[in-house]
Amino acid sequence: MAALQQLTIIVPCYNEQEVLPESSKELLAVVRQLIDAHLIAATSRLLFVDDGSHDRTWSIIQDLEATDPIYTGIKFSRNCGHQNALMAGMTIAYPVSDMIITIDADLQDDVQAIPKMVQQHLAGFDVVYGVRSSRDTDTFFKRDTALAFYNLMRHLGVDMVPNHADYRLLSKRALGALLSFRERNMFLRGIVPLVGYPATKVYYARKPRYAGTSKYPLKKMLAFALDGITSFSIIPIRMILNLGILSVVGAIIVIVYSLIQNFRGNVIPGWTSLMTSIWFISGVQLIAISIIGEYIGKIFTEVKHRPRYIIQEDDFTSKVGQSKSL
Ligand code: UDP
Ligand code: MG
Repeated sequence: MAALQQLTIIVPCYNEQEVLPESSKELLAVVRQLIDAHLIAATSRLLFVDDGSHDRTWSIIQDLEATDPIYTGIKFSRNCGHQNALMAGMTIAYPVSDMIITIDADLQDDVQAIPKMVQQHLAGFDVVYGVRSSRDTDTFFKRDTALAFYNLMRHLGVDMVPNHADYRLLSKRALGALLSFRERNMFLRGIVPLVGYPATKVYYARKPRYAGTSKYPLKKMLAFALDGITSFSIIPIRMILNLGILSVVGAIIVIVYSLIQNFRGNVIPGWTSLMTSIWFISGVQLIAISIIGEYIGKIFTEVKHRPRYIIQEDDFTSKVGQSKSL
């Protein structure tokens, strides 16, 4: 029988003292159940990432660690953000884990989807997306803005899974590929689909927050959306070019129009030259900015140091062997 796989469940926590006592209990029950059913290794762990909380979150995590070896935690020196908390957890878990699951601390993501995700992974999938089958419990505003954001991202050419947040399972090789994306600003929902490998979805009903308040106020949500757009797309830069071209075309029309008016003697002195130069110069300026923008766009894609490819099977190395020196 093949050895059982180690699972680490990564839980980012920012000021979650109200929910941790309950969510830790529910998560532990699920992990225990999977271990007892011999579906995952007994060395499987829960990893709480305290993202610089100001409340009792860290002392709760430490108390949990004292009660059961399944509980583990790391603490940031300050608030570094949800995505960075996930990255830290995944980086630390990678060497020892055969699969990881990331889940919010507030029980909005149904923990009962975890066994389904593990089963899908054992059936051969590397990436299992948790997808909300209903968003009834979210406010109108949150639902509509989220939908608008998915649509915008799709138009910008980013392949995101609709209604999927950061509740997902990754196999070891998918996680390894994800960690080879070297950009500082990891917008995980956009990057995970770029990893490739067999992927599937598990549906769950999104519940209301168990307790406490959302740690994503409007300001953080907007910053997150802007991050997503600017770390994936240079289309906004290209829009400057379109604007410039439009402006130059407008300039030509204005030039013709004002010249005609000028010849007819219908204008006060200076109007023609003023109008034509304003339109023309601003069009030229916008085109010039967009050219600079194109180069900045290139720098932007280069500095990310994204992997050029991710290999799924390699029959060459397995047959010919690893070359000693490159
Ligand atoms: N979170 C975090 N750092 C932050 C903000 C949020 O680690 O700066 C965590 C938070 O503790 C929770 C998850 O990210 O586990 C999702 O946050 P929240 O539930 O507040 O967001 P919402 O569900 O309202 O979008
Ligand atoms: Mg939440």
